[in-house]
Amino acid sequence: MKSQLSDKSLCIHGGKQHDHAHGPLSTPIYQSSTFVFDNAEQGAARFAGEEAGYIYSRLGNPTTRELELKIAALEEMEDGAATATGMGAVSASVLSFLEKGDHLIASKAVYGCTFALFSHMLPKFGIEVTFVDMEDHSAVEKALKSNTKMIFAETPINPNLVVIDLAFIGDFAKRNNLISVIDNTFMTPLLQKPKHFGIDIVLHSATKYLNGHGDVVAGLVCGSKDHIETIKFTVLKDIGATISPHDAWLIIRGMKTLSVRMERHCSNAQKVAEFLAQHDKIEQVYYPGLKSHPGNKFIGTQMKAAGGVIAFELKGTLEMGAQFINATKLCTLAVSLGDAETLIQHPASMTHSPYTQEERLAAGISDGLVRISVGLEEADDIIADLAQALEQI
Ligand code: PLP
Repeated sequence: MKSQLSDKSLCIHGGKQHDHAHGPLSTPIYQSSTFVFDNAEQGAARFAGEEAGYIYSRLGNPTTRELELKIAALEEMEDGAATATGMGAVSASVLSFLEKGDHLIASKAVYGCTFALFSHMLPKFGIEVTFVDMEDHSAVEKALKSNTKMIFAETPINPNLVVIDLAFIGDFAKRNNLISVIDNTFMTPLLQKPKHFGIDIVLHSATKYLNGHGDVVAGLVCGSKDHIETIKFTVLKDIGATISPHDAWLIIRGMKTLSVRMERHCSNAQKVAEFLAQHDKIEQVYYPGLKSHPGNKFIGTQMKAAGGVIAFELKGTLEMGAQFINATKLCTLAVSLGDAETLIQHPASMTHSPYTQEERLAAGISDGLVRISVGLEEADDIIADLAQALEQI
């Protein structure tokens, strides 16, 4: 649902619940597993859905609710659900709608654990998955079967930064009566709103930019009231990947600064990508902010800016890649992204190790790829660190 407020204001005020007895500025953390009923009739009415109110924190919690409403407002969706992890959001989004005999079309490159869920777990439940190159629209059309029910992609893709055309995905899903699901983790709703392209369900690893401080693992899903109700009252209720109220509070706090953080992530990443692109020890840089990147044409139409993640290949051997990563000082060797700290990692041996080498290469994730999540430090300090590490190889 479109709000009157701008995104910058929604990051701070979106979802705010003004029902607190003592008027605190900061949202209280309702650190309570359960909620007290006035009497047996009220308990029964809440369980029957005849009276609004909280029952038990796996089913809903006031702190968590503020976060859900905030992300829904930013994604311009009707409702939201918070999950214990980003993978909780991915698994809840697919398991709530797919059943034995259904078919899912997924992008051939996705986050490593999403790939593991789709390629190993879903087939165990009789759900068929076809991985396709989503830049190739005819391949997507060809993957359609009579039992296809859902299409899933992330854009830009983790880790190779390929940009998928959301207008095509939204249209393809509508034409074929499929549920479309987009993982919007790399962009956040501030840089990209999949809803504008007809996407049905948008999810995030809130662990990343939304929280932004490297101290929470969580996920969020947005969609229509019906879709979110299905997610909440099937998979989340009964499988139970629910967020803790304290983690929800940390994300609410982190999101207040999301708009200023994203501006800095994007401007720092642009400078770092330009530095890497002209360096003679770098073979190739993948960053949609560079004019040479095929995804650059989507900036200003699908995405407001290119985000904070860059991938690149060094000239030379895999050992030189390890040497380079080990030589960085300011850039921290750790997986994850979207934090204040610049994080550097090697997808083939780390985040995308659930792929076999063959699957990884087919998905466009080479053994020599290095991924950087550009942080909020001074851009010149990040560049100086990368320059000295490159000197050493
Ligand atoms: N989606 C993307 C694009 C990711 O990068 C990740 C994690 O890196 C996830 C989902 C899973 O999120 P989480 O680690 O919070 O479970």
